[in-house]
Amino acid sequence: MVGLEMQVAGAVAGALTMYLGVKRYQSGCGVQLVAATEPSDSFMAQCGSANMRALLETHAGGLLDDQMVPTPWLPSGMLQTVYCTMVGLKTDASTRVAYRRELLTLADQGTVSVDWHNEGRERVALVVPGLGGSSYEYHVRALAQRLGARGYTVAVMNHRGSGRTPLTSARLYNAYDTEDLAAVVRHVAAQPGVRHLVAVGYSLGANLLTKHLGEAGAGALIRAGVAVCCPFDTAVAGRALDARGWLNDHVFQPNLVATIKRLVKRNLAVFRAADLAYDLDAVMRATRMSQLDNLVTAPTYGHKDCWAYYAAASSAPYVAKVLRPLLALNTADDPITPMEGVPLEAVRRNPHVAVAVCRHGGHLGFFTGLKPRIWYLDHVATFLDAALAHADTQCASGADEGPRLATPADAESFAFPFAPYAIQLDFMQRLFEAIEQRSLGVFESPTGTGKSLSLLCGALTWLRQHEQRLAKQTEVADDPAAADKAGKADEPDWVRAYARRERQRKREDAAGERETRQRRYDAWVARTRRREAAAAGQGAARPNKRRRTDGGDGDDGLSDSDLLVADYRSGSDGSDGSSDADDSDGEPEEPRGTQIVFASRTHSQLQQLMGELKRTAHAQGLRALTLGGRSQLCAHPRERLRPAAQLNERCLAMQQTRAERCPLLPARRTPLLDFRAAAHAHGPADIEDLALIGRRLHVCAYYGARAAAPAAHLVAMPYNVLLSAAARQAMHVDLRGCVVVVDEAHNLVDAVLAVHSPVLDQPAVDRLAACVAAYRSRYWRRLSPENTRHVLQLGALLRALTRYMRGVAQAHRGAEGASVRVLRVNAFLHDARAEQFNVHAVARYLRVSQLGRKLNMFHDRHASDAAAGPPDAAAAQQGATSPAAAIAALESFIACIGSPERAAARVVVAADGGAARLKYLLLDPAEPFAEILRDARAVILAGGTMAPADDLVRQLRPADRPDDARLFSWPHVVDASHVCATVVASGPTARPLRFARADLAGSAGLSDAGLALAALCRVVPGGVVVFFPSYALLRRAHALWQESQVLARIEKAKHRVLAEDNSRTTGGAAEDILQEYSRCVAQRGGAVLLSVVGGRLSEGINFSDALGRAVVMVGLPFPNLGDAELRARLDYCDAKEESGDMGPRARAMYDALCMRAVNQSIGRAIRHRNDYAAIIFFDVRYAEPRIADKLPRWITDAGSAHASPLKPLPFGPALAQIAAFFKRDFASK
Ligand code: SF4
Repeated sequence: MVGLEMQVAGAVAGALTMYLGVKRYQSGCGVQLVAATEPSDSFMAQCGSANMRALLETHAGGLLDDQMVPTPWLPSGMLQTVYCTMVGLKTDASTRVAYRRELLTLADQGTVSVDWHNEGRERVALVVPGLGGSSYEYHVRALAQRLGARGYTVAVMNHRGSGRTPLTSARLYNAYDTEDLAAVVRHVAAQPGVRHLVAVGYSLGANLLTKHLGEAGAGALIRAGVAVCCPFDTAVAGRALDARGWLNDHVFQPNLVATIKRLVKRNLAVFRAADLAYDLDAVMRATRMSQLDNLVTAPTYGHKDCWAYYAAASSAPYVAKVLRPLLALNTADDPITPMEGVPLEAVRRNPHVAVAVCRHGGHLGFFTGLKPRIWYLDHVATFLDAALAHADTQCASGADEGPRLATPADAESFAFPFAPYAIQLDFMQRLFEAIEQRSLGVFESPTGTGKSLSLLCGALTWLRQHEQRLAKQTEVADDPAAADKAGKADEPDWVRAYARRERQRKREDAAGERETRQRRYDAWVARTRRREAAAAGQGAARPNKRRRTDGGDGDDGLSDSDLLVADYRSGSDGSDGSSDADDSDGEPEEPRGTQIVFASRTHSQLQQLMGELKRTAHAQGLRALTLGGRSQLCAHPRERLRPAAQLNERCLAMQQTRAERCPLLPARRTPLLDFRAAAHAHGPADIEDLALIGRRLHVCAYYGARAAAPAAHLVAMPYNVLLSAAARQAMHVDLRGCVVVVDEAHNLVDAVLAVHSPVLDQPAVDRLAACVAAYRSRYWRRLSPENTRHVLQLGALLRALTRYMRGVAQAHRGAEGASVRVLRVNAFLHDARAEQFNVHAVARYLRVSQLGRKLNMFHDRHASDAAAGPPDAAAAQQGATSPAAAIAALESFIACIGSPERAAARVVVAADGGAARLKYLLLDPAEPFAEILRDARAVILAGGTMAPADDLVRQLRPADRPDDARLFSWPHVVDASHVCATVVASGPTARPLRFARADLAGSAGLSDAGLALAALCRVVPGGVVVFFPSYALLRRAHALWQESQVLARIEKAKHRVLAEDNSRTTGGAAEDILQEYSRCVAQRGGAVLLSVVGGRLSEGINFSDALGRAVVMVGLPFPNLGDAELRARLDYCDAKEESGDMGPRARAMYDALCMRAVNQSIGRAIRHRNDYAAIIFFDVRYAEPRIADKLPRWITDAGSAHASPLKPLPFGPALAQIAAFFKRDFASK
């Protein structure tokens, strides 16, 4: 009996184990989706869904709910793939289709065939087979039958020579040449009765389809696509297929090779007649695809070998450009197109593309069920149905916007405040086109060409016309008669009625959605105003509740409850806790139109911009404002006197309690709504205008500007707001669909890197650790368990960092200078013994819980009575950095090191002066900039001197974005004859002028440069500005020239030699030098200013007219290769981590760093069309093509006006050329 029970129990346990095992196995067979996680306006415009994920979840949900449980006897990718190969020609009930063949002759007399099935339908699905595939393959027939049953006409394209298509030219097909596919697409789309064209590609065919969609972008005739087992990265697929292994060697390779050989054999006559250099005998002997590609494909298309061909054939770079719904189906066990090649990050960034990954299925298998059947057939049909139903009939990007805007031909259309020069008109026209075409544009227009005005007028003209276009679209949709006219004249009534209903629905979905949101928002505003007006009336009679009484014990009005962090749940996303003002409670999001987001380096540049804008007719009725910081806009009588960092923290802390709340930011919304209305009615409002409005209405202008930003047509902001996602979020800046214009963008790479490279110093970490410890010991009884756990984690992490930094400082004690080490992030975590911490979770906790603010208030309270407070607090108050500032630095530092995606990052560990410092060093600016490129409609980078612009684009453009940047450069407004550019190869004593590090051992060259300068000063009128690569060289030259009396000779000609001094580089000192220099030039007819490239007098200073008749560049300011951070960037550039060599990309970047600085310095002279100057290079290397190519065009053009382009001249002829320039051309001026 007991034995029976045991057997039953064993059987039950066995069955249960099997059941659970199967369940677990099945649960692993769900479909993983990779898709854009953020909604995208552009996709909304196209598909009426938030994004690809929404489209799949809402309208093709079956795919995501389904599981691809493989056939039990085909459990691996290899077996699935082999089975797919074996059943290639099998016919059963599910694959029996009848085709009608059509042969298409292509432009080169080659032939492809199209096999038609179920003809005569409005919806056509084009199927593109893979390598060696054709319409007769099992999976192609199965799909054709299923799509036919779902109401599609199916057109299967057979590549040249495939599926018994005659080979009529010696050219075969390959993995990247999309010409044939484009021809077939055009042909199919042009067939009578075809209204909607979709496509499905398999393997190589999927690669071609993806590439074609990327190339066609908004103009693609295909409305939606599915890519099955797309390799994306063909080099990865090539390697996988070429790897040695039984299945590759005995199944896949022989199969593919035999197919291609058959094709060649059948068409030997064609190849022989074409007299191609192929070794046909070798082709017939080949046993691997790589051999065939080496023999045929690579030479045909001009590649060195098959690997170069595979590298060039990838469709991955085109993923970012796809503007049609594209679903990729891949499997995790695909032996031929492994997941390694799928560009997941690019897919995440493109809201039009999604990848659905099945755990099993192999290459093109996807067999499920005991009797194998293909799993995806219905899903493909459902997705295509959904994409067609929810994509507009004119689904082009911008098609919903209406027809493409024509570029205005005349100056009047741009409302330029005066008659523009030809280059200004051209600038505005190219800008208009770049915005309309959603481009990344680099615009270089030298100083004096009215760049700011051109940017404003070009962008605002586009915005005005774009808004008119959108309004017109809504009118057409509203007017059935007008809409009907847009249809075909011979359409039957029911088709017109259907189309009308569809248009109506879409209008309600898209434009209607916008209107609904606007109505909802307006209603909220009206309701809020009414409610608050009523409350204000009653409030007069009600006594004021001044202070909470729940244990409040501080003189600061704060209770202990105010200092406690709110309950925290690990799963909360923090989205509701990240705002630093409680002004969003219950407020619906304000609808935004398309905005121009204008960024520049400094507030004074933004101030000038608004001034320019006010001069134009665009200012009329324009809502434009500048976003500033609290330090510029705060009107609180006491708080605004604090330093910026303290003001920020104090302002945030004040918002935490009702009693402390700033009177200029009342809890009521009406004052901010009043501010918003006033700011919008004002016209373009700069910082001063906003501050005035704030004072007039007695409202905080800082929060007022933030509230007014969403509804503005143009929002101006400094770089740091644009470049930081957190700052954008805090300032309510949403870049989706916006036009981003970055002025003075030559330093953008440095700005991006600086914004994303937070620094932690040792005193801040020490203080923070002490403060956290004090906070925990005070509140440990009242913190929730979750909070306690996280505060403990934070404390432990801080202690680990403190120990590590003390150790670093200790090790360096007594050493000379600073020590710097650059570590990989994991190596740093290991060294700091912080590997066991989940730094990502800690960062998240800090962000969500806002512990930093609580710590700050806690610190403030105990700082005010440190003697009575806990000893930790007294320690915590020493030094300048408050806990909030320190915790903000810690938060961004650990958010960075906890970010798993960031491969392009290091941690710099530095020790100097007895303290250590940690810096997160971002190496690749393209990574954070990708978000801006993804969200914005167009990104325009403008500047007076953008050269070398190609390096700027290379650094900012993500690797997976196609090279679609458009570079524009205009000549200077001055005629080339107003510039004399001269490279002086040697000095008066014939010593070569060359100042590379190795050349500076002796002082002969420098001495000769002094003599040359003295001679020049006799022939150059007015002021001469001399730039050195470093302060060290400037000081050395100054001392040498003084000693040798060269300075006295120069002063004889120019009265005064002034030298910039980095020991006194405060703004005031630099200003004094500049004033004295200007005075000497104005009153005594000349002076010489010795300055440094990149110093305070090299950027943003105007040396126009007599202030800069000559600019002399002594040497080339290459950055110091001893700088560990620079070295890390260069190494990363060419992925030459250990070799120490500088590869071609690093070399280009290094040269560009130098030349960008040179170009900024020489751009200080010649500021308007009547100005003139000599630009003189005291270093023969300026004539080398590698350097000369990176000079601005107005310099190289000028060189050709006076001599051959920048040909190095010995001193005598150089001096004669410069003297002649001033004597001949400008003697009378
Ligand atoms: S709310 Fe505005 S006015 Fe008040 S302290 Fe903060 S920035 Fe200043």
